[in-house]
Order: sequence, then structure tokens, then C-alpha cells
Amino acid sequence: MSKLFKQEPVLLHKTGPQVIQEINACIGCNECLLACPALAEPITIDRLNHETIAGSISPAVARFARTCYQCGACVSPCPVGLHRDAMMMWLKVRLIRDDWGG
Ligand code: SF4
Ligand code: SF4
Repeated sequence: MSKLFKQEPVLLHKTGPQVIQEINACIGCNECLLACPALAEPITIDRLNHETIAGSISPAVARFARTCYQCGACVSPCPVGLHRDAMMMWLKVRLIRDDWGG
């Protein structure tokens, strides 16, 4: 019975250093955002990339991060093989840390 309620750790697609490496490799083409079904307002790639790894998170980027449902539609259009879904997961982690004051 207790097995039913056992909490499994959430697995992230990429480590923090890997996400930073991918963001540094991003050429800013915007193809990932064009393919995203969850993006409801304009956000530039530069802003998204920056706020994914450092500094404060703007309300628009926070809304996008919360809306991302990890569908993966942003991955295959990337011409340099990056994983926007993993970057978005790190943004979600940053938001949770902010909410918890970490
Ligand atoms: S994983 Fe998130 S960012 Fe990527 S296409 Fe899906 S909703 Fe958009
Ligand atoms: S598709 Fe890839 S290279 Fe283009 S902006 Fe998105 S992550 Fe960067």
C-alpha cells in the first residue's frame, strides 16, 4: 500500500552546467519559440536565455515558464540540437526556488 504513495524524485533532463552550456551555444534563431504551443505573449530569445540562468525573472518570462508543459515541440526545430524544454525546466526550478525564498 505504502508503495502507491512513494514519492519518486523528479528527474531533470539536464544538469545546470549542461543548461548553461546549451544556452551559450544558442544562436538565437527563435525556431524553438515559433514551434511552442504555449507561448502566449512575445518574449525575445535573449531575454529568455538570460533569465533562465541568472538575475531576476520578469513577469512575462515567469508566466511562460509556468505555462510550459514540457511537450518537447521546441526541440526538433532547433538547428543546433539544443533542448529548450530542458532550459524551461530549469526556469521552473528557478521560479520554485524564488517562491520558497531560496
Ligand atoms: S516544452 Fe515548453 S517551451 Fe517547449 S514547446 Fe513545449 S511548452 Fe513550449
Ligand atoms: S531553436 Fe535552438 S538555437 Fe534557435 S533560439 Fe531556440 S534554442 Fe536557440
